Amino acid sequence: MFAASWNSFLDIAGRVLDFSFLALLIYGIIYFIRGTRAVCVLAGTVLFLLCMTWITEELHFEVMNWLLSRLWTIIAMVLVVIFQPELRRALAQLGSFLSYNQHTVQIQTVSEVVAAVEQLSATKTGALMVFERKIGLASFRNTAIHIEAKVSSSLLRSIFFPNSPLHDGAVIINGDTITAAHAILPIHRRPEFIEMRLGTRHCAAISVTEETDALAIVVSEETGAISIASHGNLHRNLTLQELETQMRDELLTGKEPESAS
Ligand code: ATP
Ligand code: MG
Repeated sequence: MFAASWNSFLDIAGRVLDFSFLALLIYGIIYFIRGTRAVCVLAGTVLFLLCMTWITEELHFEVMNWLLSRLWTIIAMVLVVIFQPELRRALAQLGSFLSYNQHTVQIQTVSEVVAAVEQLSATKTGALMVFERKIGLASFRNTAIHIEAKVSSSLLRSIFFPNSPLHDGAVIINGDTITAAHAILPIHRRPEFIEMRLGTRHCAAISVTEETDALAIVVSEETGAISIASHGNLHRNLTLQELETQMRDELLTGKEPESAS
């Protein structure tokens, strides 16, 4: 009697756990891909396959049914390939819960960066600055020039001064410290980049924020335009005031940006 009720308790507990894990998995997938191009493609594909599976089962199309059951596996593999950046970011974000990376930024640092950007923009000097947050950027620092210096407007302007040996590539900032210059970041080629007429500096800024939780600030050499990349979105043609507000929102309070332009 006791053994029977114990077994049925285990059975119910097992089902609840099973259901909870499934709900957690679905929630996790939606949480990590929300606001990305993945949502539409994923929703469209799943809807199409669900409709096809339902129709072929209702009409007893055995061959189609067999094909569709295999198609689910193939689609899962294709999605993994298509959404590599999103998956990489999701996995990195999972790992970041264990990270002790110190990334708090003081208001003085924001002011120094804004002052540097003002000058760089006025003189149309190209620049790319990446703020490291919870997800470490050590792999990009390895190929860069290591620096351990407090963020200052004059140092940033010296680094990006045309023909300076370090002006090419990105500066990496952790908290209030410039930790590296001349860093080469990953570039993911997306069709939208061509439509948006983006060069490699802007593509690199978007790509690093797609792969990690970093914040990237870009000054265009061609136009002097100021942009911020965050969570894989590029906010272009910002005023100095907008730059400062977004930096404060993102770096001082950790608030997420509203939308991409
Ligand atoms: P701009 O508006 O300043 O011209 P852009 O987006 O059009 O920028 P390019 O004209 O291709 O980009 O800029 C080239 C410069 O961008 C390089 O000289 C280098 O300093 C920087 N850059 C290019 N690729 C990377 C990369 N992968 N990582 C870091 N910096 C890069
Ligand atoms: Mg260019």
